[in-house]
Amino acid sequence: MSNTIKMVDAPTGYEGQGFFATSLDKVIGLARANSLWPLPFATSCCGIEFMATMASTYDFARFGSERPSFSPRQADLLMVMGTIAKKMGPIVKQVYEQMAEPRWVMAVGACASSGGIFDTYSVLQGIDRVVPVDVYVPGCPPRPEQIIEGLMKVQELAKNESLRRRNSEEYQALLASYNIK
Ligand code: SF4
Repeated sequence: MSNTIKMVDAPTGYEGQGFFATSLDKVIGLARANSLWPLPFATSCCGIEFMATMASTYDFARFGSERPSFSPRQADLLMVMGTIAKKMGPIVKQVYEQMAEPRWVMAVGACASSGGIFDTYSVLQGIDRVVPVDVYVPGCPPRPEQIIEGLMKVQELAKNESLRRRNSEEYQALLASYNIK
């Protein structure tokens, strides 16, 4: 077993002997990106793939996400995995509304992203009909590697997000377009 501990890269900044300076945005982004707490909203087969992603072989915990949260108030990454029936749409939205800012959303798999093969009267054709989505993971189901890549994309977003983004007019307009206050 290797004793090597891999540290995350420091944000860009200025350094010299005995000091390192960077911006507050970057320090907070680094902390947020490496401590995302996912809320798994799993309804069907893609949820099983997520279970494999959490288990020892793929080990989601390596990314600081070892604590799946089943309370929206203690989660900052909503992961929707599986077919979402239209009557579950309001529940997904309610869960999203109960999460505190900053929050991110990942649509895992074809069903959550677009309804998948279920182009029917009863299936929501993508969760972006009810909540804004940050990252879409394709596949039916996606492999655990793809789910991990999706998480890494969310990490990039979190790392590079301005602290002012959530108060910006554009973001408020995005929420308003979903009728979310
Ligand atoms: S995308 Fe495929 S694997 Fe995932 S929930 Fe839909 S049917 Fe199941």
